[in-house]
Amino acid sequence: MSNIESCSDISGRVAPVVDRNRCEGKEDCVVVCPYNVFEIGTLSKSDRSGLTVLGKLKAWAHGNRQAFVVNPGACHACKLCVDICPENALTLRPRSS
Ligand code: SF4
Repeated sequence: MSNIESCSDISGRVAPVVDRNRCEGKEDCVVVCPYNVFEIGTLSKSDRSGLTVLGKLKAWAHGNRQAFVVNPGACHACKLCVDICPENALTLRPRSS
C-alpha cells in the first residue's frame, strides 16, 4: 500500500509546518506534493526577524526563498514531503480548527 493510500484516516487533519531555520527553498516539497500544498516564496522582514543567527545566514545565502504552506487543507498526510526534504525542515502537525 502506498503512503497516499494509507493516510486517508488523518487526511485533512494535519498539515506540514516549515522550520524556517532549516528550509533552503530547494523545492523538493513543491515537486513531490500531489496536492499543491506548497509554493516557494520570499521571507518577509517579520519572518526573518524570528530566525536564529544561523537561520538568517542560511536564508540570506538562498535569497530568502523558502517553502510556504499555501494550501494546508489539501494535505493528505502522505509524508512524501517530510521524507524527501533534504534539510529535514518539514513536520506534519495537527491543524488548528
Ligand atoms: S504530507 Fe503529502 S499531501 Fe501533505 S503536504 Fe506533504 S506531500 Fe503534500
